[in-house]
Amino acid sequence: MSELTGSCLCGGVRFEVDVPFERVNACHCTSCKKISGGGGTVSGRARTDAIRILAGEDLVRTFQPDEGVAKTFCSECGSNLFGGGWPESEWTSVRLTALDEPFEEPLGSHLFVRSLAPWEVLPDDGAERFEVRGA
Ligand SMILES: [Zn+2]
Ligand SMILES: [Zn+2]
Repeated sequence: MSELTGSCLCGGVRFEVDVPFERVNACHCTSCKKISGGGGTVSGRARTDAIRILAGEDLVRTFQPDEGVAKTFCSECGSNLFGGGWPESEWTSVRLTALDEPFEEPLGSHLFVRSLAPWEVLPDDGAERFEVRGA
């Protein structure tokens, strides 16, 4: 077991998470596109209690959409930090984009590929693909 550190764009929020992740997924759903400004989100699944906020807890906001699970972001700079219902959920999706070091393990799967945008091309990375959510 080791840990990775993460932060938001303004640097106000810093956290650490124990790894390895249970799995790593890219989600191409329309909600993830809205919050990401791109093709979607890429996340490592971690137990919620494996995440520790080191700084800026007062900046952290969680938005619960009508459909799907809550998304967590920095209220100062808008950086996307977690999905999956943190902090109440048992499991949290930690956005790889928030990690401070490059994350080099391959993706396990692509989720919601039915929601691919016309300008979005899936890499030929061998990861499993699901029309909606994964198994
Ligand atoms: Zn921030
Ligand atoms: Zn999604």
